[in-house]
This record gives sequence, C-alpha cells and structure tokens, in this order.
Amino acid sequence: MEKEMLDTINKLKKEKNAVILAHYYVDGEVQAIADYVGDSFYLSRIAAETDADVILFCGVSFMGESAKILSPEKRVVMADELADCPMAHMVELEKIQEVRQQYPDVAVVCYVNSTAEIKTAADVCVTSSNAVKVVKALPAKQIFFVPDNNLGRYVADQLPEKEFIFHDGFCHVHVSIQREAVIKAKEAHPEALVLAHPECTQDVLELADYIGSTSGIIDYATKSQNREFIICTEMGIFYELGQKNPDKRFYAVGHRQFCHNMKRITLDKVVNALETLEPQVLLDEKTMEAARAPLARMLELAGK
Ligand code: SF4
Repeated sequence: MEKEMLDTINKLKKEKNAVILAHYYVDGEVQAIADYVGDSFYLSRIAAETDADVILFCGVSFMGESAKILSPEKRVVMADELADCPMAHMVELEKIQEVRQQYPDVAVVCYVNSTAEIKTAADVCVTSSNAVKVVKALPAKQIFFVPDNNLGRYVADQLPEKEFIFHDGFCHVHVSIQREAVIKAKEAHPEALVLAHPECTQDVLELADYIGSTSGIIDYATKSQNREFIICTEMGIFYELGQKNPDKRFYAVGHRQFCHNMKRITLDKVVNALETLEPQVLLDEKTMEAARAPLARMLELAGK
C-alpha cells in the first residue's frame, strides 16, 4: 500500500474520530489499515464498546446494522453499501411467525448473518463462535435456528438435549467447498490438518480435524504444532493466518472460496467513506430497539 494512502486514512480517521472495523473476509490490504479485525462476535463487541464518534465498517450490511443497533448514537458508515450477505435474506418474518404458532415454547435463535428486521423476531442472536454456548444456556428445549441450515445442524450435533427445527438458508461460499475437493487436498498434503467453518456442509465437517469460527480457526492454527493446514472457509482469512504464522503453510480447497460481497471493499472506498461519512446505516428506532434485545442477550449469554 502506498504511504500516501495510509497517511490519508490516518489523517481522516483522526479528523472524524472514526474507528475502522474489518471482517477477516475482506482483502488483506483493507484488514491492514483497520483498527480492529475479527469475526462477527468480536466486531459486535467492539461496536458496542467504542468511544469513537464514527464506526466505519468494512464488511457486509448485516454487520453494519448490528453495529448501529448496538451503538445507536454513533454514525455507522459502510465502506460499500452494496456489500451484502445473501444468506441474511434467506428467511422471512412470516416463517418465524408460522413456527412460533406451531410451537409456542420454541426459542428463535438467529444467526447474526440476518437482517435487522429478522432479528426483531428472534429470542437471541448467535455468531459461529458462540452459538453452542448461547443455545446451551437457553432455558427453551425447542429451538428454531435461522437462517443457516449447516450451522444449525452443527450446533444441534453438540447439544443432543435440545430439539431443533432447521431452516434452509446457506452460505454459497461455504457450500461450494465440496467433500471430494477436501479429500483431494488431503491426498496432496497428507501432513495437513483440515480446519473448517461450521457453515460448511456436514460431509465436509466430517473430514475436519477442527471446526470453528474464523477466529477459532486462526487461534487453532496459531497454537498448533502442525505446520500445514487445509482451510475450509473464505480466502480472506489467509491474510491473518499468514500474518500470525509466517512459517506455516495454508492451502485452499478450491478457487470458489471467495465472497464477492466482502471483496467489494477497497481502500479507495474506505477513503471515500471517511471523507464523506456516507453511506450511513440508517434504521428506524423501533426496529433498532426490537433487534437490540436478542443481540444484547447474545453478548450476555456468551460472556462478554
Ligand atoms: S462468506 Fe457467506 S456468510 Fe459470509 S458474507 Fe459472504 S455469503 Fe455471507
């Protein structure tokens, strides 16, 4: 990155009292200029606690919405307003109402990869790093898990004492990681451990030596004595894996481990958003209030 660009970003950040939050799936050069880089859980905690006047979010829209809901007095700006997560739109309010009618005691557990509107209908939110802990802590036995089918099934496997109703949402990036391709990667790199995100399909998770969120995968690889790893999640994670482990080797399974939405974020857009403080995340008070309760409950149950 040019020094001039870095100086501009730092100057604008100071002028606007802005903090830059970036997800592990955005490009490495964007992660490099962020104040905080992490998974959805970590970034939502930072958004809830920051003293900055402006939060610039380098990620997809549901992340910016969560930041706004948790810090409504702050100006939350997206680096690219078109960066969106298709999975976030894979469940509708009517479906939740239907399930609630059919199962009056059900707890609706909503993956943070969902719109603010869907969060308003949830009992609690979860991220991939805290889902098992949070669902375990719920008094309800029946769980309706939305929108991601694969994460829901993974959580259900860990908690046989609960009864799950699943939805059919999915992440196209993780679902594109095929079992056969992982087997081929293992044959090509027999010493490598397979590290997988729980948004992958069950037949891929069966091949994994470790299953966890992006931060879980980074921690595992960093602490491991092993030197080689096959990574079953979005490619943006390779930046942080490499930063923390310059002497270890990380292999992708295929070229489709790529989230086009996350990759919309560029340094030029970061500069533009800092200059204009647009596009802003705007949500109405009622939605924010209703969506805050399940997010706050998640932070409480996951143990901030
Ligand atoms: S990687 Fe998947 S879940 Fe994450 S933002 Fe992209 S499409 Fe959504």
